[in-house]
Amino acid sequence: MLAGVAWAQEFDVVIANGRVMDPASGLDAVRHIGIRGGKVAAISTEALHGRTVLDAKGLVVAPGFVDLHSHGQTPENYRFKAMDGVTTALEMEVGASPVSPWYAAREGKALVNFGASSGHLPARMAVMHDSGALLPRDKAVERAATAGEQREILALVRRGLDEGALGIGLGIAYVPLASRAEILDLFRLAAEKKTAVYVHMRSGGPVEPGALDALQEVIADAAATGASLHVVHITSMGLRETPLCLEMIEGARRRGLDVTTEAYPYTAGMTDIGSAVFSEGWQARQGGITFSDLQWAATGERLTADSFARYRRQGGMVAIHSIPEDMVKVAIGNALVEIASDGILENGKGHPRAAGTFTRVLGRYVREQHVLTLMEALRKMTSAPAERLGIHSKGRIAVGEDADLAVFDPARVIDRATFEDPAQYAEGMVYVLVNGVPVVRDGSLVEGVAPGRGLRR
Ligand SMILES: [Zn+2]
Repeated sequence: MLAGVAWAQEFDVVIANGRVMDPASGLDAVRHIGIRGGKVAAISTEALHGRTVLDAKGLVVAPGFVDLHSHGQTPENYRFKAMDGVTTALEMEVGASPVSPWYAAREGKALVNFGASSGHLPARMAVMHDSGALLPRDKAVERAATAGEQREILALVRRGLDEGALGIGLGIAYVPLASRAEILDLFRLAAEKKTAVYVHMRSGGPVEPGALDALQEVIADAAATGASLHVVHITSMGLRETPLCLEMIEGARRRGLDVTTEAYPYTAGMTDIGSAVFSEGWQARQGGITFSDLQWAATGERLTADSFARYRRQGGMVAIHSIPEDMVKVAIGNALVEIASDGILENGKGHPRAAGTFTRVLGRYVREQHVLTLMEALRKMTSAPAERLGIHSKGRIAVGEDADLAVFDPARVIDRATFEDPAQYAEGMVYVLVNGVPVVRDGSLVEGVAPGRGLRR
């Protein structure tokens, strides 16, 4: 398979002899890939000439992974993403507001591609003068927005979309007094702009109002407005109801709605202990867990009633061990569920998903447990999220498209990060290229490169 006469010329980079696996086209064969100007320029059965030739014999050459749910948007986080095979890390759930400065702060400095939704939470925090950082913790939580505030919030979200944000981000559980009408307005805006809403639902777990009620709200809003809907981290919302949630999403799709979802391959979530997720009744909402199921990210300690109260006043990240392992398997193995990390690390502290989500699926759930095939796992990490975004230049290996590639050893690829020590690079990624530039080479990070670009709608 040759692309014109490209094979006769010299390429910037050639990836030779690899097993090219491209879920978008179904290609699964040994090929040589020629890269020029940051794009894939040839996919050939014959050897190619390149100024740089990377030998991928015995390795899988896949499209770089597209992470729809990456809160960590710093140089520290991007290094862990690259070592996990991620070439595009997007903040779609919380999102950004204002959007233009968010992109400007990263342009020309990023190891991997980046992007964000226009976020309802940051817009609401700004309008209502909340003191929280990533997530609201007081004024945006404590009351409903007035009609005037709702108009201001909506205008900010609209402006973010006009500045190129990739969709609308919604974290309803973090602002539980946001009315149904306030949320419906955002779906209407998404429909008008022909984009998707990425939503952390209003509630989760088995106790009503729980995951099913919350899913009913967002599916109804999507049906009523025509907006596309992406439900984030279905396992941490659904818990034991995850199969029912997936059945509802499948049913909505069968009736013509554009609904997708995602999960991370871990049995614990993580969020700010100061947020509304830990308001009165959190134990029942999390499926009947208790203080010792919470793990303080800064120290790794399990909590007690006393330490819980102290840390809740202080604020900070806490792991919530609430997701049954069989529900993780159900989700990872379900064709509707894309892989997304929900990860963030700060000075080496956080959830291991920030460093190991993608390699953990490949190592633990594909190679060790045979929950899904390698090609199917790659689809959930590449073409499926790219399709959700409506971006064709990412998530595939095709001539003329961006040369974002993850080249790994399928016999060795695995996560290393743990809850006690999350800042551990994944293993098995041999080469990772972002826009044709190696950011991982011979299994190690490349210093002094910043080929990542901002992705806009
Ligand atoms: Zn979330």
